[in-house]
Amino acid sequence: MTYDSNNIFAKILRGEIPSFKIFEDDDTFAFMDIMPRADGHCLVIPKTPCRNLLDATPDQLASVMSTVQLVSRAAISAFDAHGATIQQFNEAAGGQEVFHLHFHILPRHDDIKLRPPGVMAEMEMVKSHADRIIAALS
Ligand code: AMP
Repeated sequence: MTYDSNNIFAKILRGEIPSFKIFEDDDTFAFMDIMPRADGHCLVIPKTPCRNLLDATPDQLASVMSTVQLVSRAAISAFDAHGATIQQFNEAAGGQEVFHLHFHILPRHDDIKLRPPGVMAEMEMVKSHADRIIAALS
């Protein structure tokens, strides 16, 4: 499977479509999922191309996981969460829909289930949740 540079996350990285950025460094980019399955649901991606865990280089994985840990801690703090679920899907058979490596960060509270996938959120709410994570990062 080859990398398609027209995937939606590549377009976000190039600034061709908008996103709610929460963090960026030389190698990684973090932004809000616009169909959040929990308050504070966000995504971390490498800035360089790879489809998923299966074709990523050790350097891509190392930098992304470092950012996943950083943003997870901030998201848990921002939402007074009790934990976080980290999700990552590989190829369509594995549940992947966007073919640029990404890790989902889902702040979790005891006894609160994830919401169903594929439901678009109010953009004002997503923005306010992004601001909470950004504040926790600073
Ligand atoms: P998956 O590839 O199955 O891990 O799912 C892709 C994720 O990307 C889903 O959770 C979508 O809600 C999310 N998503 C799709 N388009 C956008 C977008 N433009 N901005 C932010 N998140 C998105």
